[in-house]
Amino acid sequence: MHDLFDESAIRTLPKVVLHDHLDGGIRVSTLIELAAAKRVALSSQDPEELQAWIVEECSGSLDQYLIVSDLMVKLLTGDAEALQRVGREFAHDLAADGIVYAEVRWAPEEMATRGLTISDALAAVTAGLDAGVAEVSAQGRQLHIEQILCAIRTGTRSLEIARLALAHRGKGVVAFDLAGAEAGHSAEDHRSALDLLKREGMPVTLHAGEADGPASIRSAVETGGAARIGHGVRIMEDIADDDQLGPTATLIRDSGIALEICPRSNMQTGASASPLVRHPFDRLQRLGFRTTVSTDNRLLSGTTLSDELFDLARVFGYAFEDIVQLQLAAAEVAFISSAERAALRMSIRAGASAIAR
Ligand SMILES: [Zn+2]
Repeated sequence: MHDLFDESAIRTLPKVVLHDHLDGGIRVSTLIELAAAKRVALSSQDPEELQAWIVEECSGSLDQYLIVSDLMVKLLTGDAEALQRVGREFAHDLAADGIVYAEVRWAPEEMATRGLTISDALAAVTAGLDAGVAEVSAQGRQLHIEQILCAIRTGTRSLEIARLALAHRGKGVVAFDLAGAEAGHSAEDHRSALDLLKREGMPVTLHAGEADGPASIRSAVETGGAARIGHGVRIMEDIADDDQLGPTATLIRDSGIALEICPRSNMQTGASASPLVRHPFDRLQRLGFRTTVSTDNRLLSGTTLSDELFDLARVFGYAFEDIVQLQLAAAEVAFISSAERAALRMSIRAGASAIAR
């Protein structure tokens, strides 16, 4: 098995990504074209140079990461055509990385400007994703994409976004999220939206434990009813050096709340230490937390899911079967029906066996 375990095995393996932002995964070539059309200055017109600049610029803190992220929003906001294009390309890029199931997230309130409503923005993104999925399916590739709608923590439109998510439940939208600046902007501020979703039984995953500590994670679960946590790596602050778990860490582990961990992004924002050998992923895994691997923002972090998995395998000595298990774990907490989750797990298993033969 070990001699088969190379980057191409990971790339070919049917994979699942649960935390992948639409606007943070724009193709660098598309970014250059959109910026030119909108007369937005970029540091370089060379795709490789620009990609390197973006990764560098995003490193240091979540605030810095969000500043670059704002540039992407600026290029897409109020532009149905651009949103549709980016959705379509997103589907193609996921398929090219061997992803068979993805939950893509974005914030309608950031895209609804210049006369475009949140519903128009959703229609544009959905049309783009659908077109991309239809095209890759016609090429014989398996791909299923669902959307998670984010409300912005510092914003005031969460109730509207929750209603939009509910209205499109089963029509391309599977869950709700809170994104943006975490510290000082508690899930409590969005209680009406979160209460509504809880009453309606709509799944919620919340960014927490990224720019704030265990209290924010606890609030995401207790106030927000989150079934998964975006990042959550700062749960480490509730785990002692001797692996003794504090109350919040115990709650997260024992209730099986999944952590959507995005290693490269975590190291850029400072949510975790770097280099990767100092990232808590492996320790959380060994302590029995439900850990999954995602990309967060492929453009901002210069990454793909295969890159993230390969890095983890190389640094922590994971075998191919460990990587397969991580995909099965992600499939297990996908916001789809149990029958769909079972079918997804079967296709991951079948793909893994075909690679191992
Ligand atoms: Zn994120």
